[in-house]
Amino acid sequence: MDGQRRFMEPISPCPQCGATFAEPGVSCASRFDRLLALDHSRTEPWGTRHGLAFAAFTLQHAFGKPREALERAYVMLYRVYEFGDDRMKVAGALRGTPPSSPAEWGVPPLPPVLRGEPAWGMTIADLGSFSADEYAGLLDSWCKAILDRLSVGRLKRETT
Ligand SMILES: [Zn+2]
Repeated sequence: MDGQRRFMEPISPCPQCGATFAEPGVSCASRFDRLLALDHSRTEPWGTRHGLAFAAFTLQHAFGKPREALERAYVMLYRVYEFGDDRMKVAGALRGTPPSSPAEWGVPPLPPVLRGEPAWGMTIADLGSFSADEYAGLLDSWCKAILDRLSVGRLKRETT
């Protein structure tokens, strides 16, 4: 029994997003570093989706981030998934604009960001190996799960 103990250590979830990883030494930060390397390679399907991935990761890892950074991330996801805006245009516009409130983008106020919330529905752990054939769909699901958890789903539930 003692001999097996080191293999039975509980996997501690990420204190911010609740993700768990079976592989030793893997964390949200190390997964995100790997994803950033793909984004910065400027190849598809990753390159044009960098703004979305960055926004999703920021909202799920809000510790120590200024509110304006979280609002910017929220505007990015909201404009793309609720308004159907082009992701590259939104990312470019946000980069070229000084910090501004969601209202200036026609987006509702950012609800209180869930910190250490275990019920996000989806985390970076669920994006697997970021493989080219699955990545775009998984990223969409991740972003939509975050929006749903933050506000949109709640609003829809309140009105039905
Ligand atoms: Zn995490």
